[in-house]
Amino acid sequence: MSELQYQLDMYRLVCETSCDAFLFYSFEEDEVRTLGKWNEFFPFEIKTIEDLPVLYDNMADFYVEKVRNLVYLEKRKLPNGFCEALNRNKKNWYSINVTVEYDENDKPKNKLICISDITKFKRQNEELAYLAYYDPLTGLYNRNYFVRLLGEFIRNAQDDDKIVSVMIVDIDDFRKVNDGMGMVAGDELVQQLGSVLKELSNANVIVGHVNSDIYSIAIYEPKNDFTVDSIYQRIQTRLRRPFYLSNGAEINVTVSVGVASYPEASKDAVELINCAEIVMFRGKSLGKNLIQYFDTPILDDFLNNVQMDNKLREAVSNNHFTLQYQPQFYADTQKLRGVEALIRWEDAGENTTISPTVFIPLAEKNGTIISIGNWVMDESIRQCAEWHKKYQNPIIMSINVSAIQYMKIDFVENLIAVIEKYGVDPKYIELEVTESVLIADFDSVATKLKALKEYGVRISLDDFGTGYSSLAYLKKLPIDTLKIDKSFIDTVLYDHATQVITESIINMVKTMGFEAVAEGVEHELQYKYLNEIGCDVIQGFYFARPKNVEEIEKLLS
Ligand code: C2E
Ligand code: CA
Ligand code: CA
Repeated sequence: MSELQYQLDMYRLVCETSCDAFLFYSFEEDEVRTLGKWNEFFPFEIKTIEDLPVLYDNMADFYVEKVRNLVYLEKRKLPNGFCEALNRNKKNWYSINVTVEYDENDKPKNKLICISDITKFKRQNEELAYLAYYDPLTGLYNRNYFVRLLGEFIRNAQDDDKIVSVMIVDIDDFRKVNDGMGMVAGDELVQQLGSVLKELSNANVIVGHVNSDIYSIAIYEPKNDFTVDSIYQRIQTRLRRPFYLSNGAEINVTVSVGVASYPEASKDAVELINCAEIVMFRGKSLGKNLIQYFDTPILDDFLNNVQMDNKLREAVSNNHFTLQYQPQFYADTQKLRGVEALIRWEDAGENTTISPTVFIPLAEKNGTIISIGNWVMDESIRQCAEWHKKYQNPIIMSINVSAIQYMKIDFVENLIAVIEKYGVDPKYIELEVTESVLIADFDSVATKLKALKEYGVRISLDDFGTGYSSLAYLKKLPIDTLKIDKSFIDTVLYDHATQVITESIINMVKTMGFEAVAEGVEHELQYKYLNEIGCDVIQGFYFARPKNVEEIEKLLS
């Protein structure tokens, strides 16, 4: 084969297999050629310089000028360059790279424009940006973003001397739908009511999805058709008709609503939502399908829920707590990676176990979380040290830490002291942080996390996807692990949007060099899918429920 033939073959093969489109311009010949995927990318040919405007006119308005400046072909010294552009059809994103080759006399000889389709990459970033503000199930604002918008309402109201009302809307007996008809039906109902509420939104009314079956509505300067009562009446009118689900079921629902207003109930966005939530629960306890307005006695009553408060304090002083450990496994090898310590309150008097989702919020309110948290840190790290001594393979101990604990100024020193006391290698200790922690005081928490990371402790971001998860903000944190929230895993097999988001979270985790953990994996198919798309670690009932010490030791030996 001649050298020329060889080069031609090589050239043809490179062009045929490349994923990019090329435009080659020779200044000497004054000739334009398109190569590679050109015909797949664009429905037009470019044969001469005069055809070139078709290329940039094919871009969305905002990008026309940028692309024109970049690809412009004329016989003068041209810099190499790069830009990203969106197609006029708004469907495809391109990255455009320009390389100019010069001859000995510094005159431009050839110019190569390389166009790559980066739509997929861009989409993933868009999904994540979307995730930062919206709840993927309902398309409503998520809790954290709702808090931010409510905060803006309150600041404006302060300046203009106006009122802001918050309504918390909760579906009555939602559990019955979920338990009786399955989670898919439950999700569908949450979605449908979500779209009903979404229609109420306008410049002065924002609607959010707090979690599960709870929605939030904020009204700036309630008046005319947009007072709390008129909005409540509109919801009631719609609820007189049933919802139709795709399984053929017809459900009638009622809601309980709690209302609290700025400045009466509180001047703070989070507190205002809490107040509305508290009165909503009070309404429920009086009978459902009610609207309950904030008044101070209700709040006092709640805050001084003396009985529960005392019980919790007593449990703290007599240490009625135990820890359970839920195993985490590497997805590919199914080897044990570590365990997450989960607290249990054994209420001897009632002979029951009280869930941490019930008492941790209370402990955060009355301050006992500090003693409880200290005990959890001590006990889990002690247990970890013991297991490291007893068994060959050292496992990671993941510990949940509440926002209140991070706020203590001696948090870092305390934790290090416990680790030293038991002589554990800090790389086996992992702290689980939730995004609510970061929102409270980002800079100070970030500084503490950095100090701990430097010491060697691992940092894991818990419940990812349920809050304000922006990329920019992840980059500023010393994260090792990201835990994808159970709500994604629940629907990932049948909901396309969740699938796209989950895949992009995992792609992002890879790019940033973190480890991805999926939480709440209950079925084999969920595990298989997650393993396929590159999720590193699996935690959930499918592999193991939270276990006591003896059961974990069986696993270890
Ligand atoms: P989390 O940190 O998201 O913990 C995971 C929860 O999901 C645990 O609930 C666990 O038992 C449950 N879980 C794990 N796999 C599955 C599954 O496949 N299906 C289902 N349905 N659930 C699964 P748990 O133990 O009730 O804990 C609830 C929450 O309480 C935790 O959520 C965490 O936020 C908090 N918590 C637990 N222990 C502590 C602690 O020591 N300190 C603090 N501050 N919070 C804790
Ligand atoms: Ca956790
Ligand atoms: Ca979690």
